Amino acid sequence: MSNSKIWLSSPHMGGSEQKFVQEAFDTNWVAPLGPNVTGFEDDLENYLGEDVFVAALSSGTAALHLALIMLDVKPGDEVICQSMTFSASANPIVYLGAKPVFVDSETETMNISPAFLEEAILNGISRGKKPKVIVIVHLYGMPCKVDEVRDIADKYGIPIVEDSAEALGSTYKGKKCGTFGDISILSFNGNKIITTSGGGAMVTKTTAQKNKAVFLSTQARDNAPHYQHSEIGYNYRMSNICAGIGRGQMEVLDKHLKLRRNMHQFYIDLFSGIDGVTVFSEPNTDFYSNHWLSCVQFDTTKTNGINREDLRLALEKENIESRPLWKPMHLQPVFSDCAFFGSDISENLFTNGLCLPSSSNLTDNDRERITKVIQTLFNA
Ligand SMILES: *Cc1c(COP(=O)(O)O)cnc(C)c1O
Repeated sequence: MSNSKIWLSSPHMGGSEQKFVQEAFDTNWVAPLGPNVTGFEDDLENYLGEDVFVAALSSGTAALHLALIMLDVKPGDEVICQSMTFSASANPIVYLGAKPVFVDSETETMNISPAFLEEAILNGISRGKKPKVIVIVHLYGMPCKVDEVRDIADKYGIPIVEDSAEALGSTYKGKKCGTFGDISILSFNGNKIITTSGGGAMVTKTTAQKNKAVFLSTQARDNAPHYQHSEIGYNYRMSNICAGIGRGQMEVLDKHLKLRRNMHQFYIDLFSGIDGVTVFSEPNTDFYSNHWLSCVQFDTTKTNGINREDLRLALEKENIESRPLWKPMHLQPVFSDCAFFGSDISENLFTNGLCLPSSSNLTDNDRERITKVIQTLFNA
């Protein structure tokens, strides 16, 4: 059996990516604009539906940064952010001199808890500091409790930035993730469900917002023959080469979605006879996850003491990558001075959770190697 590295989530090319990239070379559109950029934006708009507009950018982080700028986040403002997430959800808040306020998760989706969210908002209001924006995330592709969160945001008149970096293809009540925010963002980093080698996008509700994102991402040039600027700009536009990869990837997105979901089913079957390990799954049919990453939770009182670290090390020995869930931001040294609302829910999810190899290009041989490690560890 081959012993080559099995990654948590690796790029998976479909076939026509190189054709679009070649076209860019043939026509000399090797720039942060061109037919692939517009073509990729059109593909995403058609895919997402719901009359949204898409601006292709250099990364998901850049999209989050611009989203917060467009929602007028200023130094000294407070911005609520789901604590259990990748640091890129929170970093742009700090870029702007604003303060992150972290909120705990609920256990059903592992995403922002509506109850703790409202507590955080009321606390801010009581101090005369109503939060400026709420950043929500759909972890590992699992949609958050969108309706509950939206009701609270609307009740207090606070806009939502939807970090849908991990959830392209996921749906909530039949609508695609990436369409629920006042502004939403996507990522096409190398480890995501589709990739442009590095890239992201902003999803907006109006063309004016999309145009603003394009304007800010291309150095904020006023309309003049010389270079004239009335605003601070950024160099955040996606290149026509990366967008070519993205157009090829859009052709295989639905296939990748199916393959990621098959990996999730593979783990459900694999762990079905093993006590104390639960494969994280949709709470009900309102939620449809792309299962970007499949995760398991350990109850060590039922596993004879075997914990997530035992499994991680057993996999590592066989050259198989796995990773603990995102360590919550309120437990990160860099955010130790930030406020947090909640209890120990995300902390427990982190302590007992592990993400397993979930790539869409895993082979039967890879699955056999994973099966062997898990069956040996649990004596199954
Ligand atoms: C990947 C990711 C990002 C950042 O996207 P980049 O394109 O890598 O900048 C932001 N938020 C979450 C939740 C992510 O997983």
